[in-house]
Amino acid sequence: MDNSTACCCSELADTAIIGMGDAEGMDERVFETLDLVRNYGDDKWWLYASTCRACGQNWMIAQEERIHDNYCLKRIDWQTLNEIVEHSGWPDDFLSYENVLRLGREAGYVATFLDPKSPALVETAQDLRRARPEISIEDVAYALAIPTKQAERLFKA
Ligand SMILES: [Zn+2]
Repeated sequence: MDNSTACCCSELADTAIIGMGDAEGMDERVFETLDLVRNYGDDKWWLYASTCRACGQNWMIAQEERIHDNYCLKRIDWQTLNEIVEHSGWPDDFLSYENVLRLGREAGYVATFLDPKSPALVETAQDLRRARPEISIEDVAYALAIPTKQAERLFKA
């Protein structure tokens, strides 16, 4: 098999949202050839950079497995990867979990929680507010893809 067809990189948009365990198995096919290069670490546990071993394409990836269960991938050039590896200089696209959640929402890949006060929702709502104290209830509701009333209740004991 020639390398150009051995991976999915050329099929993906420059910023791609892929649902975990989607019906076509897209996530499995994409990640089959991606090797982890660097984790962001610290408090941004969702963020890392990978390189495709088939075609050499570099990707920055946010693994959003708390709410909507999506991967967000951004195509990056080698200079950007180098900046990440050498200086921990990450592009700001996925630095905010709120942004990562919004990307999933905008792509229409959202989760529905049976428990309206699921711990994942409660904890994420608190994290969103910690990351951006002035965040509005509407913004929390949008990111979590829940009604505003439900978002309000997440902050009540
Ligand atoms: Zn590739």
